[in-house]
Amino acid sequence: MPKRSLGQVFLVDKNIQRKIINFCGFVSEDYILEIGAGRGELSQLIAETGAKLFALEIDDVLFKELKYRLNLFKNVKLIKRDILKFNIRRYFNNITDKKIRVIGNIPYYITTSIILHLIKYRDKIQDIFLTVQKEFARRITSTAGSSSYGAISCYIQYYTEPQILFYIKNRSFWPNPQIDSCFLRFKFKENYPLSINEEKKLFKIIRTAFSQRRKALKNSLKKIVPSYKLEEFFRKTNISPQIRPEDLSLKDFISILKI
Ligand code: SAH
Repeated sequence: MPKRSLGQVFLVDKNIQRKIINFCGFVSEDYILEIGAGRGELSQLIAETGAKLFALEIDDVLFKELKYRLNLFKNVKLIKRDILKFNIRRYFNNITDKKIRVIGNIPYYITTSIILHLIKYRDKIQDIFLTVQKEFARRITSTAGSSSYGAISCYIQYYTEPQILFYIKNRSFWPNPQIDSCFLRFKFKENYPLSINEEKKLFKIIRTAFSQRRKALKNSLKKIVPSYKLEEFFRKTNISPQIRPEDLSLKDFISILKI
């Protein structure tokens, strides 16, 4: 029986599996990390493209099943590890100078943690393809003014361009989840406008602003942004001081920091 505690929801719809593989366009020169290989149906399709597949699975029982299913593929390496404890840079630097590509129909209970983990290794990753719940996809792709926009949208959009490729109905999975899913691609940005130190400050501002959504920014940010700077920001941008954090774009937050 699938273990709910490990987010085991298998993508069983063969057409969707094919569609995913077509969108990814893996070629034999690629190094692929698959997160949560499960019973290995998607893994097998990836292996058939000839790409070098490194498939991670944490569950003992499934790991044995994977070994059996993928035994004949010379281009597959199975790894029994927890993705959140897996040092992608260290592991793959020993294998290739190339950037790797990441794919996964990932366990929903750790979706955010997995994305944050992958962002940490952005210097070693070319792109990321993930199946996530629809609501979550909406949250991370939404921009200022939308009700699902929040600190996590800003964080992820600072580093990547998340793009919804297509929706997947709940009946394509087993066991049937209540919510539909969607297939996303994340491309890392070419360069980032801030230093690491500035980035830390930026995310602190964003987190603080969103943690007190109802407060005027002047009050919520009082302790971390000097008031003369905020006034300068409002004056220069012509933005009302009454604005709520969810109406400020990532660019606006960067301007507050930079002023
Ligand atoms: N890719 C398969 C399985 C998806 S279900 C498919 O599409 O059908 C998610 C899988 O992630 C499960 O097999 C689960 O055991 C595995 N998993 C859960 N937590 C994990 C973790 N921390 N690290 C690696 N794999 C994990």
